[in-house]
Amino acid sequence: MDNAQAAPTLFERIIARQIPAQIVYEDEGYIAVRDIAPKAPVHLLVIPKQLSTRLDEIGNEAQMGRLWLTAIKVARLHLADYRLIVNVGAGGGQEVFHTHIHVLGGWDEGSAVGFGQ
Ligand code: AMP
Repeated sequence: MDNAQAAPTLFERIIARQIPAQIVYEDEGYIAVRDIAPKAPVHLLVIPKQLSTRLDEIGNEAQMGRLWLTAIKVARLHLADYRLIVNVGAGGGQEVFHTHIHVLGGWDEGSAVGFGQ
């Protein structure tokens, strides 16, 4: 699909301030917001302003590196320990098709749920 003609994604609308969000970080290339339905005491979404629909669409090493470094920076502004998750594709649990990294944390020490539980 030609992105120039596609309807703006939910996150593009947040970036454009067309819908409200709790913004916790922003720079030229990225924005981070609180997830509207948090799955952890702290649940943030780190979103590149440049649209790609899913993580594996990003083929540029510098772009991929900047995305993860920004997620780590945002995580460390809020949390000492944390979990980073990316859902890739509908089968991977992705619901918003604008690449983003989930930053989760704030659990009591030792109470973070493991995978498969
Ligand atoms: P994913 O399933 O990886 O695509 O994640 C999409 C996330 O966006 C989910 O965790 C939703 O709770 C979150 N979300 C949906 N709408 C909003 C919104 N308006 N503001 C902030 N987060 C949202």
